[in-house]
Amino acid sequence: MKPRIVIIGTGLGGCYLASGLLDYFEVVMIEMLEAKPLLRDRIKDVALPAVTYPHVESGYGGTTKAWHNALMEIDESVFADKWPFLKNTMVPFYDLAYSALSGTTRQKINQFAQNLRNKLEIMGFSKSLLNQNMFIPKNRINAWKKLDLKNKVKTIEGEVTELIHDGVGRIDKIKICRKNDDDVLVDGDYFVLSSGGLGSPILLQKLFKSLPIDSLKNAGCHYEDHPIAFVGEVQLNKPLYKLWDFPVKTSSGNANIRLPFSFFWEGINVSFQLRPAHHFRLSKPREKVVSIISELRNFPFNPLNYLKLLKHVDDIFEILSFKFGLRIPTRNYTILMVAEQPPAPYCAVWKEEGDNNIYRRWELDDVYVKVLNNALTKFLDTISPVIKKYNLFSNWPTQVYSSSHHSGTARISKDEKNGVCDENGQVYGLSNLFICDGSMIPSSGFVNTGLTIVALAIRMAKFLSLQVKSSKIKG
Ligand SMILES: Cc1cc2nc3c(=O)[nH]c(=O)nc-3n(C[C@H](O)[C@H](O)[C@H](O)COP(=O)(O)OP(=O)(O)OC[C@H]3O[C@@H](n4cnc5c(N)ncnc54)[C@H](O)[C@@H]3O)c2cc1C
Repeated sequence: MKPRIVIIGTGLGGCYLASGLLDYFEVVMIEMLEAKPLLRDRIKDVALPAVTYPHVESGYGGTTKAWHNALMEIDESVFADKWPFLKNTMVPFYDLAYSALSGTTRQKINQFAQNLRNKLEIMGFSKSLLNQNMFIPKNRINAWKKLDLKNKVKTIEGEVTELIHDGVGRIDKIKICRKNDDDVLVDGDYFVLSSGGLGSPILLQKLFKSLPIDSLKNAGCHYEDHPIAFVGEVQLNKPLYKLWDFPVKTSSGNANIRLPFSFFWEGINVSFQLRPAHHFRLSKPREKVVSIISELRNFPFNPLNYLKLLKHVDDIFEILSFKFGLRIPTRNYTILMVAEQPPAPYCAVWKEEGDNNIYRRWELDDVYVKVLNNALTKFLDTISPVIKKYNLFSNWPTQVYSSSHHSGTARISKDEKNGVCDENGQVYGLSNLFICDGSMIPSSGFVNTGLTIVALAIRMAKFLSLQVKSSKIKG
């Protein structure tokens, strides 16, 4: 008999893990769906907001219902400094993750990126800025649908509200609250939290109340998300717009590659994208730039968004360039900054007695804003040979929001004092509880986390399947 594994959440991590376990496990997936109040409306920011609404999604596919599936790899220096293992152990899984998500191979993507890098260098951009690439398939992937899990796993619809342990280091059952129905208890041989960077720590914090072990003390702490903001505008003497959304063909359709200008500065990784702009004249500079592309993608049936689009000319040209490869000549560009933020030293994600919300504290301190400011100066200095003039928004620090890459809240660490789970995702102190979602990522530099979540899920599926094959796990 196959062992039974219960995965809580059908988002990015949960789906790719489930798909990799089907040969060796009976897979049961629990999904809270879109019960009201919606999960996305239960996230309460007590400090700064995220740039996207929603921050998270619920229902089959989780936040992949809303994501852009832009794919990036975490740099090897981030692994070396902040992970308990080196990147080379992840490379085979990045290979598999790219193939699963991109319609092409990691090797080809690196070739496309190298081609773009050469062209940017010839145009006059310093090699030192051309480090990490971003691959963007034109159509987003809902992980649940893409993997056709509906026909492959058993599902239970409802919200998991409690993990129940047996007192000797195992999870025995979970409690599921079902809409218009009685609560149920579900048992299993193995349990995996794939409820996302904001969902998983909440269940671990509740478990901590009846099981006060060191690892669970860290749940909700070390929260990390990337600061993102349009910080200004620049006029260039080079036709960079020709290389924006550099097109590539894949087996699953067309895609684009971008190379954000990135570098390491005063302890953090920071990146700047110069996005073609058609709306501004530097003689009458703007003080703020806002993009509504995410809103439009996630709420396409709201006519208001189309009206708003009329006021966001840059977005119209961005859509034309992204979707149809139409590059309208311009000398003007907005500067979009995305940076690494050191993990919060306090518990940043939590729930309070008596309400159903998830509270999130994400904030920037003055010292950190100064580092960003210095990085911006350094960036402008480095690209000065191609700049004609620029305008920085005087109050850009007040426009920095987080970017919905919730991570770190149940992080991988070398021991239970510094995090929640080991490098295989197993929670320290519990023999049958695992984490497989954004919360396990200990650090990501400035890059988005989706590709790494999938690489970790494929890696964990291999680890667990090998355990069954070698009979360490029995049903
Ligand atoms: C608008 C937007 C755009 C984005 N674009 C990108 C991008 O371009 N590239 C990128 O890499 N990342 C992007 N992201 C982030 C990316 O979507 C997430 O990092 C990724 O989906 C997280 O995967 P996950 O497995 O951690 O959790 P999720 O995908 O969030 O899945 C969690 C699942 O658990 C379920 N769940 C939660 N709690 C419970 C419970 N108690 N009981 C039962 N079920 C539960 C939820 O309903 C959900 O289905 C974007 C995010 C947003 C919001």
